[in-house]
Amino acid sequence: MGAPAGRRTRRAAAPPQRQARPPPARGAGAVTLHVFSIPLRTRFRGITVREGVLLRGEAGWGEWSPFLEYDPDVARPWLACAEEAAAGDWPQPVRDRVPVNVTVPATDPEHAHRIVRSGGCTTAKVKVAETGQTLADDEARLEAVRDALGRDGLVRIDANGAWGVDEAVRAIALLDRAAGGLEYAEQPCASVEELAAVRRRVDVPVAADESIRRAADPYRVRDLEAADIAVLKVQPLGGVRACLRIAEDIGLPVVVSSAVESSVGIAAGVALAAALPELPHACGLATVQLLSDDLVTAPLLPVDGALPVTRPDVDPAALARLAAAPERVDHWQRRLAAVRQDRPS
Ligand SMILES: [Mg+2]
Repeated sequence: MGAPAGRRTRRAAAPPQRQARPPPARGAGAVTLHVFSIPLRTRFRGITVREGVLLRGEAGWGEWSPFLEYDPDVARPWLACAEEAAAGDWPQPVRDRVPVNVTVPATDPEHAHRIVRSGGCTTAKVKVAETGQTLADDEARLEAVRDALGRDGLVRIDANGAWGVDEAVRAIALLDRAAGGLEYAEQPCASVEELAAVRRRVDVPVAADESIRRAADPYRVRDLEAADIAVLKVQPLGGVRACLRIAEDIGLPVVVSSAVESSVGIAAGVALAAALPELPHACGLATVQLLSDDLVTAPLLPVDGALPVTRPDVDPAALARLAAAPERVDHWQRRLAAVRQDRPS
């Protein structure tokens, strides 16, 4: 347990300092905008750089970082989340730390073992069903993860929707055995209907992740009884209070997960996890390590398997260091204007 602090906080070499830094832009209303661009340590969702906007409001900073392919309708709830953070309108926390999982990519068993041992978490989320790999690869990885965690650790798998129903039923049974028991299986199949079908045929709890992307989705998951657990992300679902309402409405245990934000965005996820009346599972909020740098003075990295419930301070030097190039600032300003223009009043 507990990797040396230096290991967790070590950063990749900072990108070269930009000389001609664009001045902070002014958005509609008295909000200061900073467009940031942070290289990822490894490719994720086909991207190598995480871009977004920090909005400064009365109470602090909020992060707006919808993925680049999202249209204004999809990106709008993400903005509501950033504005809520900037206004400081977060509910009272009921806990001061949020347990998080370590994520194990679809890697070989030795590497998987090392990741879990150095992660300092007692819950591991293991990627399975990777293209080009076999079920035997997944079994070997899960055996290694169980060995690294010990008997008391929890192991969950994430198939990112890759299996068909029959395939999922068979795989979950095999992997449940290889892992010495699974906490849950996340998004075994792509559609909500398939999740519901799998759920009726396996004993391992099923979690919905990709099936929940818009505000209406969690209700569909509930109505079709498609999952035992809902993975909620604050930006796509419109913010902390919106997620809190969804959690109450759907009556399912919630795992709060990130959209690979900087620590400013992660803080909103932490605020949700801290405010949920019950938090029976570790959250997927330990993702700041995927970025090569961060925008705050004290990044939200796990300590003893948990994140502190705190709002980190934005670091002006980091804002300068990670400022996006002028053409990207223009891009994000146009994007923001499009989202605000179409906003229903
Ligand atoms: Mg997932």
